[in-house]
Order: sequence, then C-alpha cells, then structure tokens
Amino acid sequence: MLEIIPFPALKDNYIWLLKNKASKHIAIVDPGEAGPLLKLIKTERLNPIAILITHHHWDHVNGIADIVEIHDIPVYTPKTESVNCSTNPVDEGDKVSLPELELEFQLLNVPGHTSGAIAYYNDKYVFSGDTLFTAGCGRLFEGTPPQMHASLSKFKSLPDKTLLYCGHEYTVANLQFAQTVEPDNPAIQERLNKARQTRKNNQSTVPATLAIEKQTNPFLRCEEPDVIQAAERYAGSKLGNSTGVFGAIRKWKDNF
Ligand SMILES: [Zn+2]
Repeated sequence: MLEIIPFPALKDNYIWLLKNKASKHIAIVDPGEAGPLLKLIKTERLNPIAILITHHHWDHVNGIADIVEIHDIPVYTPKTESVNCSTNPVDEGDKVSLPELELEFQLLNVPGHTSGAIAYYNDKYVFSGDTLFTAGCGRLFEGTPPQMHASLSKFKSLPDKTLLYCGHEYTVANLQFAQTVEPDNPAIQERLNKARQTRKNNQSTVPATLAIEKQTNPFLRCEEPDVIQAAERYAGSKLGNSTGVFGAIRKWKDNF
C-alpha cells in the first residue's frame, strides 16, 4: 500500500515521500535538504529508489547530492533546467516508472515559476512543485503571465478528484488573499476556517483535491465574473481576457 508523507524541511518546504508501506521503498520529491531525511531513512530502514525534482530552485534540490552519495538512485529532473546530479532529464510526454511503488507518472511542462518547471501526475496525484499551490500559485521568477496561465490550465484540465501535492505550506496565507479577491465566495471562508484549524493542530493542509482548488483558488478562476471584476478594479482598467485577469491578480498577490 502506498503512503504519501509530508516531510517538513527548511522554513516551510515539503519534501514528499512516496512510500510502499510493506517494502519500505520510497521515492523522494524535491529534497531541499538531506540531513533530517537521511536520519529518518536510517532509523526507519527505508529504501530510497528515486528522486523526483520539479524545478531547479535550491530549496527543492539542495539535498540531492548528500542523498545520492549514500543511495545510488536515479534523479529525475526537468530537461531544460540545470540540476546537479541529474541522471534522467525528463519532459512532457515522458513517463517515470516506479515499479517498487506500483506507480507510474506522466509529465507536464509547466513554465512560469521557473522556465523549465515540470509536474508529475497520474490518475490520482499531481506533484506541482511551486507552480500550482494549494489556493495559490508560484511567483513568476522566470516566466510570463501567459506562460503561467497556460501552465495552470493544464492542471485545471486534470480530473477533480486528483490530489494536489505542492512544495510549500502556504494555504492559509493564500486563502486570505483569495478571500480579498472573492469576499462573497463561501467555499473560501469554509476552507480558510478548516485550514487554520489544521495548522493549529500542526498538521499539513496539503494535499487538496483539484475540485476544491477549482472552487477556491483565484488563479484557477480567471473566467469567473467576480474574479474578473475584482481584477479589473485592482488594475483600474478592462482586462480583455483571462490571461490579463491572471496577470492582474498575480501582481496583486505580489503586493498583498
Ligand atoms: Zn521555487
């Protein structure tokens, strides 16, 4: 049976561990640091089989070298980004097979946060790195609003029941912004109450279904009349299309 474990790292990162409970094989998503994770691997006698990287930022890759020094395992990385210790550069259209976990992932190219960011998905899960966050999306460090908007549309086209696993614990702050954009959306208030309670109990608010994302994440709602109106009020002008709406609320969030 598969277990997906959030391993908190650095300030607010999640390293995701995909674990076969019986065999203790694990795949590691975005190890931003190695020390505490290597300790866990040792004490629990886990058996690493692969590292999956979503993008090149240091807080997602800094642990790779120390892990592969001890465990000689494949490191899947975005084809167009330079990542140390990469063994398997991958791209949209490629597949990643993890037979020890009875898992296979397909890939999406999702530029915007970084220019070569990728996401790993199958019919149950999507690992989005810093591109799509629970109730938000990543900053545009290397990409443009049209690129990011197109990338988010790819996530939006995945089935509602898909569970979203992202790289940081940002849900509460993201929902506070979502509420500012859409004060009359009761699903946002409800989710915010729940997320606050979850954090109070020191638990992770991630994953979330894409269904709840589509109801509450303003960056996936750029076609909704209320979101368009709020974005145009912020921008002080008509925005024309959903890419323009996306660009305005991304800028709004940067200044929030
Ligand atoms: Zn990042």
